[in-house]
Amino acid sequence: MKTTFMGPVSKRFKNIATNKIDTFPERVKLTLNDDGVSYEIGVKMIEMYPRLKNIVPRGALDGRTWNSVSGKYNLDSKIISISEFHWLISQKIYIRDSENCIKATISHETGHGFDFSKVGSYSSTLGFKTIYEEDFNHISGKDKAGNYLKPFIQKGEAGRQETFAAIFGEIMDEDEFLGENYFTNCKLYIKNLLS
Ligand SMILES: [Zn+2]
Repeated sequence: MKTTFMGPVSKRFKNIATNKIDTFPERVKLTLNDDGVSYEIGVKMIEMYPRLKNIVPRGALDGRTWNSVSGKYNLDSKIISISEFHWLISQKIYIRDSENCIKATISHETGHGFDFSKVGSYSSTLGFKTIYEEDFNHISGKDKAGNYLKPFIQKGEAGRQETFAAIFGEIMDEDEFLGENYFTNCKLYIKNLLS
């Protein structure tokens, strides 16, 4: 995969990111390559892209700014961006993530890239919409009211896109939470896409 490093990224971060991208199934890498998707790995989001300073991230929860974001996918440029540092929202202090968190971020953002490798995106196909609705309707009101599921149940395409990316990420990281407990049909759908 085409990967560009921006700024003084640490060796540790470089290694974790490079290795993680390398472990994606051939099928995923070929799809992304064909679609012209690439990675940009840097130190802080707003240093990588200064124009983000005055922009609010989509679906920003709890006063989130680009300082508190460590991964993004840009649909127009087809660039998956990963940063080494991001704010702890509550304290506004820059931190580095654990290795597992870094890997999860890369997998999640790669999920967005994979979603949009289909024209119009997989998450907006009738098939995915239908099974997403089914899963959505099975989630209890109590769970819907909590914070955890907020990104995945937000209205319109954003909720579906976040669900697709998160579950794709779980499959890549062999993690099971969201796909096992809330979006079982979506998980099957994405697994089928990858088989
Ligand atoms: Zn996302």
